[in-house]
Amino acid sequence: MPLDLNHFRKKLEEEREKLERQLSLIAKRNPENPKDWEPTQPKLNPQVSDLTEMADVFEKFETQVITGVALEAQLNEVQDAIGRIENGTYGLCERDQKPISLERLEANPAAKTCIEHSK
Ligand SMILES: [Zn+2]
Repeated sequence: MPLDLNHFRKKLEEEREKLERQLSLIAKRNPENPKDWEPTQPKLNPQVSDLTEMADVFEKFETQVITGVALEAQLNEVQDAIGRIENGTYGLCERDQKPISLERLEANPAAKTCIEHSK
């Protein structure tokens, strides 16, 4: 049975929208490179001289950077998968070109490999 590409495209587009929404809360898209997201700088109150408070701000920023990197990686995988739908290679394992099981694609529409090659 051929893959229902429209179904997966819709899922991937929804995922992309969700990731972009999450990213936009903590990062700004680089206007010169739409694939690149830069974490928004923490707002430092110049009146604040309390080191603990500053440490808090930086800790928050650090978490934000880590989350941003993870979201960006997920977003790139989703974009890649959409690209594979467009060039007709979607749903094939990138290691052995065999079809990826439907259950796996349902669980993770951006999957690049079959279960065997995911390890
Ligand atoms: Zn494989």
